[in-house]
This record gives sequence, structure tokens and C-alpha cells, in this order.
Amino acid sequence: MHTVNETTIADGLVGAIGNTPLIRLRRASAATGCDILGKAEFMNPGGSVKDRAAIAIIEDAERTGALRPGGTIVEGTAGNTGIGLTLVANARGYRSVVVMPETQSREKIDFLRMIGADLRLVPAKPYRDPDNYVHVSRRIAEETDGFWANQFDNTANREGHRLTTGTEIWAQTGGRVDAFTCACGTGGTLAGIGMALKARRQEVRIVLADPEGSGLYGWLKSGDLTPSGSSITEGIGQSRVTANLEGAPIDDAVRILDAEAVEQVFDLMIHEGISVGGSAGINVVAAIRVARDLGPGHTVVTILCDGGARYQTKLFNPEFLRGKNLPVPPWL
Ligand code: PMP
Repeated sequence: MHTVNETTIADGLVGAIGNTPLIRLRRASAATGCDILGKAEFMNPGGSVKDRAAIAIIEDAERTGALRPGGTIVEGTAGNTGIGLTLVANARGYRSVVVMPETQSREKIDFLRMIGADLRLVPAKPYRDPDNYVHVSRRIAEETDGFWANQFDNTANREGHRLTTGTEIWAQTGGRVDAFTCACGTGGTLAGIGMALKARRQEVRIVLADPEGSGLYGWLKSGDLTPSGSSITEGIGQSRVTANLEGAPIDDAVRILDAEAVEQVFDLMIHEGISVGGSAGINVVAAIRVARDLGPGHTVVTILCDGGARYQTKLFNPEFLRGKNLPVPPWL
């Protein structure tokens, strides 16, 4: 039943970031005999887990003096970090320049424009290409004397997750957590939460959920970072060991296919009323696989990174899905 909790007041936008619900995914839990719990990061004010990295990076830069009053924040992003950074910038009197590959969803692009980001769309290029969006953002920061957020290699990102997301998960489960599954873009979420949980209970299994087209599964299984294949998921997959990933306590990795992820996204939508994006689908499929491995009676936590409305024109577009040979939900 819906109940009214003790009233609390968030101090502006920043006070509303984090402290997200941990939702028991009822069908996944029933199917495995485990508690499968999804951290509802789509409920952050910017609509994704990346609000956490944005505030952590900005507050760290304010502390060190790398970001001065009225300054400009520059970042390369798949979109969600740009949204988080821009909202916090608006709330704190900074400007934001967001460099993003043009292949990312229309909805994220439109939303970034709507909230006043100075948006620079660039062609999608691999990281080794000097025109990759990350390098373009670094150059813009250097040339304009802006603050480069550098989410991939700035460990304020994972530190934010260690101190908030990971700590919240421990408190919300009362320490009853056996495994945690998560995909990687920067690695901040996986590393930060992994570190927070391992510090409290060494036996918690930390499992990377990796899409096709990412090198991390191969890296963890055999030391080979070469990626193969591709994925429609946005914001995840990585072909290098970022500073945020370095030394992260990862016990195992699972490879998840897009077809499995989108089926899971549709299942959550139509049977549980939970609307999420593709990376959350990858995470939940991985949580179910790990739960089956562990056997009934365990608790597996994962991240619901962002909401489905951000991908209406892709994940929920029959034409797009057919073009990728992916299943189309019967109600569309
Ligand atoms: N899911 C989505 C939708 C994202 O935008 C991101 C961030 N790029 C991630 C997952 C991965 O999070 P992290 O960067 O902390 O690894």
C-alpha cells in the first residue's frame, strides 16, 4: 500500500539527487527464488544514474579550485552525464559545453538542448581516433580554459558512487546482499558500488554485465580487451581500462545479448509497470543469471540506470527494432 513517509525537503536540485528506492523486481525474484532488487536511478532529477557522477565531479572540482564561480564545465558524454552536469551547472551558476556522438538517442539530444547545454554533436569514432568525442571535449576545455569533467578517468566519479549509491544499497538491504551486477561505461558505478559493498562484506560477488561490442568481458575472462560485435544499448561498453575501472573489485563477468536485454525491458514495462532503458535491461538479465547460479534464497542487487522514455525512438520503435533483428513487443 502507498504510505506517506515523514516529510523531508530537498535543498534545491542537488538535494534531490540520490536516495533512490530499491525496487524488488517481482517476476525476476519469483522466477529465481531470490530477491532481485533494482536501484531506481531513473528517479534522479536528471533521469539517470549519471546525476551522481555529475554532482560528485563538480563538488570535487569546487573543492580543488579546478572549477571557479561562473566557470564552464566541458564534457564528452553519451548524453546522461551531460544532462546531469548541465542541470547542476544551471543550479550553481556554471555554463556547460556537451560533446556527444550524433548516434545517441534523439530524446537525449533534444533534452540537452532544452536545458540549455551548449551541445556539440560529433560523428561517432573509436577512442583511438583523435576526433572521438572524449578527445574533442578535452581539446575544447583546453582551448577555452574550461573545466574538463573527464568522467572516464576522474575518480571523483567512482568515489561519489562509493559514498552514496553503494552506501545506500548496504543500508537499504540491511547488509543482506550476496551479489551485485552492473554494466560499465566509465566504470564509476560498478567500481564505486563494488568498493562500498566489499569493504563491508568481502564475500559479496561483484559481476560485470557486458554488452556485445565491449572489450571488458574478454579482458576479465582472458586479458584480451579487443571488442567484437555491437549493441544498441547506450552509455555502456568499454574498450579500455579507465582510471575508474582500475583496481575495481570485480569477481566475474557475463556477456548479455541485446535480444535478451530488450525482452527484459519489455517484460519490466508490461508486467511490472517499470520503464527503463537498454542498459538496465542488460543489468537485470545479468542479475537473473547470477541469481540462478547462486540458487534460491540469495539477494542480488542491480542498477536501473535510466528510463525508457529516453529511448522511445529506438527501443520502443518497431521499425528500429525490426531493422536490428530484435523482437518487437506485441503491444506496439
Ligand atoms: N547506463 C546508462 C544509460 C548510462 O548513460 C551510463 C553512463 N554512460 C551507464 C549505464 C554506465 O555508468 P558508468 O559510466 O558509471 O559506468
